Amino acid sequence: MADLILRDLVKAYDKTEVLHSINLAVEDGEFVVFVGPSGCGKSTTLRMIAGLEEVTSGVIEIGGTVVNNLEPKDRDIAMVFQNYAIYPHMSVRKNIGFGLRSSKASKPEKEKRIEEVATLLGMTDLLDRKPSQLSGGQRQRVAIGRAMVRDPAVFLFDEPLSNLDAQLRTQMRLEIKKLHQRVGSTIVFVTHDQVEAMTMADRIVIMKDGHIQQVGTPADVYHKPANTFVATFIGAPAMNMIAGKVTGDGAVSLATGGTLHLAKPLPEGREIIIGIRPEDFVAGDPRRVLEGPVTVREPLGHETLIYVGTSEGDVIAKADGRNPPQIGEAVSLGAHPDNIHVFDARTGETLR
Ligand code: ADP
Ligand code: MG
Repeated sequence: MADLILRDLVKAYDKTEVLHSINLAVEDGEFVVFVGPSGCGKSTTLRMIAGLEEVTSGVIEIGGTVVNNLEPKDRDIAMVFQNYAIYPHMSVRKNIGFGLRSSKASKPEKEKRIEEVATLLGMTDLLDRKPSQLSGGQRQRVAIGRAMVRDPAVFLFDEPLSNLDAQLRTQMRLEIKKLHQRVGSTIVFVTHDQVEAMTMADRIVIMKDGHIQQVGTPADVYHKPANTFVATFIGAPAMNMIAGKVTGDGAVSLATGGTLHLAKPLPEGREIIIGIRPEDFVAGDPRRVLEGPVTVREPLGHETLIYVGTSEGDVIAKADGRNPPQIGEAVSLGAHPDNIHVFDARTGETLR
């Protein structure tokens, strides 16, 4: 195991810079998830850590050693990809053992190591099966086993669950998380799925256009988003965003005339964006912010999400699970001041 440091990491293809000065310190044993939309630079970052992509400038350190000029095989990392290639003609034992092909360990040592990994993955009964005799989740575990068998300092995962169906994805998410709790290895995991990031990470790194937007625990990035991008990327359905301006008495007037009060006053005249999560925008709350008729209802059982056509456009709010308002019924929506996020209208940065 080891820590991992990225210092002023830059990647350019020809003259086009796609990663701009990435700085991050991953602690020994930490599970860090990179998340962001397609094309934001997640795979490029991971491939540079693995040594599959040349570094344009900056430094990568693994366990205190600068690895910029080391071959992938000398970096003590293991990578699991989206299209994990396990060999159909080889048994599970051989597939896992494939991870040790360049190891100098003796045959009995290798056998022992394969057994250990199979035990950790709960696959000891499956060692002599062929991949065709396994479920999708078991095959995925073989791919992870092949990475684990070398006991690398750092695991790198590039969207390893994207090809699995929804149920299997949820199951594998849990398995990888449990595995991390048991083995305690350093993991850098890449995904475009914010739920995957929220559920698995110790810390999330949110990227956009080759820049890190925010690094924080799942609770940090959800409750204290650094800017409007993070605020709307994390959480589903997305946070409602409403333009406003701070008035003389410290309240906020919305473009279409409503007013609301902030937990912390801001200077008069400031143009801001108000962010309220659907679950914090409550039908019937006395601190009225907006109102309008219900246009769509999405029952979730414990609560019902309602789409409300307001003067500021459609917003999503939470209503009672058992007695939600009817379609067409006018509702008034309010929020606790502590649950109102405030961003600068020009920069999109948080003002809290
Ligand atoms: P992500 O994994 O977040 O979807 P990538 O890291 O694959 O994104 O890509 C980041 C950016 O780098 C994208 O704009 C992509 O088009 C560009 N890119 C990736 N690989 C190459 C390449 N070999 N040549 C030129 N541009 C590339
Ligand atoms: Mg990618």
